[in-house]
Amino acid sequence: MDKEGVPFQGSFLGYYQIDMSDRKNTTRMEFTKINQARGLRRLMLTGQTQCFAFRLKHHDHGFVDRPFPPRVRGLDQHHCGDPEAAYHLWQKDHPSALKVFDRITKPAKGKRIVVFLDYDGTLSPIVNDPDRAFMTDEMRSAVKKVSNYFPTAIISGRSRDKVKEFVRLENVYYAGSHGMDIMSPPASPESFPSWKHSTIPALHQKGNGTVFQPARNYLPAVQEMLAAIEKQIANIQGARVEDNRFCISVHYRQVKEEDLEMLEQKVISVLQKYPDFHLTRGKMVMEIRPSIEWNKGHALEYLLEKLGFKDSTDVLPLYIGDDRTDEDAFKVIQRRGQGYPIIVSSIPKETKASYSLRDPSEVLAFLSRLARWRKASSSSNRSSAQIWGLGD
Ligand SMILES: [Mg+2]
Repeated sequence: MDKEGVPFQGSFLGYYQIDMSDRKNTTRMEFTKINQARGLRRLMLTGQTQCFAFRLKHHDHGFVDRPFPPRVRGLDQHHCGDPEAAYHLWQKDHPSALKVFDRITKPAKGKRIVVFLDYDGTLSPIVNDPDRAFMTDEMRSAVKKVSNYFPTAIISGRSRDKVKEFVRLENVYYAGSHGMDIMSPPASPESFPSWKHSTIPALHQKGNGTVFQPARNYLPAVQEMLAAIEKQIANIQGARVEDNRFCISVHYRQVKEEDLEMLEQKVISVLQKYPDFHLTRGKMVMEIRPSIEWNKGHALEYLLEKLGFKDSTDVLPLYIGDDRTDEDAFKVIQRRGQGYPIIVSSIPKETKASYSLRDPSEVLAFLSRLARWRKASSSSNRSSAQIWGLGD
C-alpha cells in the first residue's frame, strides 16, 4: 500500500472510488486530465461517484503527487484494490443479462425482438492479429439458432466483406465500417423518407438485398489516405493498417511502447490533409472515418426501418457490443425507451448499456439461452409469426 491506501504489486489493476459531489467542474476536469495523461481511464459508476481504473508499476506512486488528492469513499481499502469487488459494484447498475434473463424475456412476450451484434470482442475474442479474430463453431451455431428465431444483424467496424467472411452465415444481415456499409433486406428507397442525409448515396440493388452506403462519396479519399498511412508507418514495427472500406484502422497492439507516439504523429500528419475525416480510438486501435453523421446507432435505426419495424411500438431491439462505438447504438435504444442495450466488459466501464455480459463466452451462453427460450415459447404454436417473435 502507498500513503493513500492504494494497493500495488507490479502491474496491477487498481480502483479508486471518488466522491466528486463537493468539487467544481474545473476540478473534475483537472482530475480527469491529469489521470488520462498518466494513462488512467476514468470510469463513471453512479451519479456523483467516479471510479478510476489504472495500472500501477512499482515505481509509480499513485496519487501521491496529485495536487487534488482524492478522498476514497464507499469502498473500503480492501475493496479498493479488488477488481472483482469493483466489478460487482458496477454490476448493480449494469446487471448480468444472464442473471436477469427472466427480467429481459418476460416483457418480451408478445413483442418482437430484433438482435444486433457487434463482432470483435463480442462474438470473437480480441486477439493480437486482427486477421485471426475467428469466432468459434459453437458461437456460429448459437448465432445461427438465434437468427432462425429473430431478425439478426451484425454491425462491425470491419469491412462488411471481412465480417461476413468471419461469420459465414446466410440468414444474417451485415453492416460493416461502423454501419456505413449495410446489406439489408430488399426495399424501395421510398420506404425511408426519414433519411435525408445530404451526401447521399444510395441504395444499390444487389442480389436479393439492398446495399446502403452513406459515405460512398468518400471512398476515393479513403483509398488515398490508406496508401499514405501505409507508406508513413511502414517502418514502425508491429503497426498494422486495416482497410475497412469506409474507415481505416491502425492497430498498435503489437507496437513497442516507445514507438507509439511516433505512430500517432504519423497518422495524424496524414489525417490533417483530409479535413472531412476524423480520428476515433478503440481497443489498441486508431480509426479514421468520414465525418458524417452516421454511426452504429443510425445503422440500428435504419435496419429496424428496413425490417418493417419503423412505426412498431412493440419491437425490442437487443444490442450486444463491447466498443465505444457501440455506445451510439445503446443511446438509440435508451432513447426509444424499449429494448436491451448489453455491454460486453470484464471491467467497470462508463456506458449507456443497461445490462452486461463479461466476455464472449457469456455472450455465447446468453444467445444459446435466448434461442432455447424462443423455441420453448413458440413450440405450442409454430406459426411463422411466432417464429419471428410476434407472439406467444
Ligand atoms: Mg467490438
